[in-house]
Amino acid sequence: MATFLSLYSGSSGNCAVMGENGRYLCVDMGKSCRAAVRGMEEAGISPDALEGILITHEHSDHVSGLKVFLKRWPLPVYGSEATLAYLADHDMVPPTAQLCVLQQNGQEIAGFEVRSFHTSHDAADCRGYRVGFGSGRTLAMATDLGQVTDEVMEGLSGADLVVLEANYDPVRLKMGPYPYYLKSRIASPRGHLCNRDAGETLAALLRAGCERFALCHLSQENNTPQLALQAATESLLAAGALPGSDGLLQVLSRSKVSPAIQF
Ligand SMILES: [Zn+2]
Ligand SMILES: [Zn+2]
Repeated sequence: MATFLSLYSGSSGNCAVMGENGRYLCVDMGKSCRAAVRGMEEAGISPDALEGILITHEHSDHVSGLKVFLKRWPLPVYGSEATLAYLADHDMVPPTAQLCVLQQNGQEIAGFEVRSFHTSHDAADCRGYRVGFGSGRTLAMATDLGQVTDEVMEGLSGADLVVLEANYDPVRLKMGPYPYYLKSRIASPRGHLCNRDAGETLAALLRAGCERFALCHLSQENNTPQLALQAATESLLAAGALPGSDGLLQVLSRSKVSPAIQF
């Protein structure tokens, strides 16, 4: 059985673990190393069972615990060439870190088939990931994206579990306390995905055969789990999802280890 486990997810930090049969990959490490290790141990996964770390991009809410973690667990780090160069140039990884540039057409990492796709975000070269497990299951994840491009849609389509950003509610963002430039940045095509766009994307993926979804990277200021869930549920029901269907949709917690998703 394949497992996806979100240790924490949101504008204040992101880290998730996925795997099966005792082998795991980590995606991002955006709080402290201590928070990541505590989360893994709480979920019964030893950091020693990790085989590598996939990085989406260099923003601090995705990498701030990475350097300390790598000193204790010197695992290979995977990402786009520009992201890895940024991490090295800004002392965000130890000088001895094993940085592995993602291959164009995907690659095998510790028994997982890993392919990345570009996401539209104000970072050096942000990526989403599609990971094939040995059991044949597939997980696809896109976080930190201002719009859903054809490439993102292709990267997510047909996966057994789709993890997608639902960052903000447009009304909350508009009325909220953020300065104008930050509101513009978040709502731009290179910012973050709003609940409505996330919901419509899930609906399209449902029609294309996906059956399990998780919403990630909710904003603390500009969203609530209820608003994100409501928008996505409405879209999924309109696309033909059965009301109350088990395990269809989950919102990942900002600060706590979310229940493991088996798929
Ligand atoms: Zn970002
Ligand atoms: Zn982020």
